[in-house]
Amino acid sequence: MKIAFFDTKEYDRQAFAPYEGKAGLRLQFYETKLCPDTAELARGFDGVCVFVNDCVNAAVIEKLSGFGVRLIALRCAGYNNVDLAAAFGRIHVVRVPAYSPHAVAEHTMALLLCSIRRIHKAYIRTRDFNFSLRGLTGFDFYGKTVGVIGTGKIGKAFISICKGFGMQVLAYDIVLSKIEGVRFAPLDELFRESDILSLHCPLTADTVHLINRESIEKMKKGVVIVNTSRGALIDSEDLLAGIKERKIGAACLDVYEEESDLFFEDFSGHIVNDDTLARLITMPNVIVTSHQAFLTEEALRGIAETTVANILDFFQKQELSNEVCYRCSGHDSCQKKQEKDGAGPCPDWPEK
Ligand code: NAD
Repeated sequence: MKIAFFDTKEYDRQAFAPYEGKAGLRLQFYETKLCPDTAELARGFDGVCVFVNDCVNAAVIEKLSGFGVRLIALRCAGYNNVDLAAAFGRIHVVRVPAYSPHAVAEHTMALLLCSIRRIHKAYIRTRDFNFSLRGLTGFDFYGKTVGVIGTGKIGKAFISICKGFGMQVLAYDIVLSKIEGVRFAPLDELFRESDILSLHCPLTADTVHLINRESIEKMKKGVVIVNTSRGALIDSEDLLAGIKERKIGAACLDVYEEESDLFFEDFSGHIVNDDTLARLITMPNVIVTSHQAFLTEEALRGIAETTVANILDFFQKQELSNEVCYRCSGHDSCQKKQEKDGAGPCPDWPEK
């Protein structure tokens, strides 16, 4: 089982190194991202392992399939960067649905606290022996209303942190559920009532640009928006306009819709051409981290463990409990979905 890993950093290689040779696994790490131009590197491999900003579109899948690659193993939860329809019937796709939801939830609160209590400003000031407090006034989180969009694993972990702060939690999800101390409400009510809005839903056709000019208009003046989910949930131009109009009080962004050419790399010596991101970063009330919310030791260990288990399950012809398939995700009449969500190989596949 030869697996080509794309877009790897030192921390990936360290997390996966213990699995080299396990049950015949041979791991090749590439720093480059997977895209139509680099897909050639996967020739001769049985599977590829990719991350959030690798491009796994129809053209890449066509090439991989031609090389005999049989598995795309995502070492992340989201799969919006994979053309699942193009992969169907040709290459199986597996993901890591959960590793440490706490890693992302805690980073979400870290961003909020840093932004609202101006920790990033104070840190720079005191290093220069500037002990002035001017401009550092924040606000109490206690008693404020936080609107949580998407109450899956990360949303729930974030809600429990917010409850610890004594915040009122409003939530919206397309799947109805009950969470103690949380009031589920329509999206418009979250927009209207929230002091802080936190995004924890996946990026789908329904959620692209969920935060846009129209939804921003419905929000409270001074609303704080935090996004640790996927960049394209927010229309960045509209976010920027909302900040310039003083409607948005602060934005905390771990993800950005055009992040794939920038995030995870050092561009400090370069001229960055993305004017929207550059303008956002100049704003005193915007904090950007580069898709870092997942980056804890526990999460990296969990990602490596599940990814290797997914790969071994596939090549040892075991049940693929973490397979993603556009038929299942599309909520249509997929037989596998009807039988048991996520269980077993899809019966509609023309297995080789
Ligand atoms: P999850 O599947 O457990 O939860 C997602 C929730 O969103 C579900 O409850 C689902 O019903 C809900 N949802 C789906 N469509 C929706 C819609 N249109 N409106 C409202 N809710 C909707 O996923 P999770 O593990 O909680 O992860 C959430 C997201 O976080 C992932 O999709 C991924 O994009 C992102 N993520 C980011 C990082 C990071 O490092 N920044 C790391 C991991 C995951």
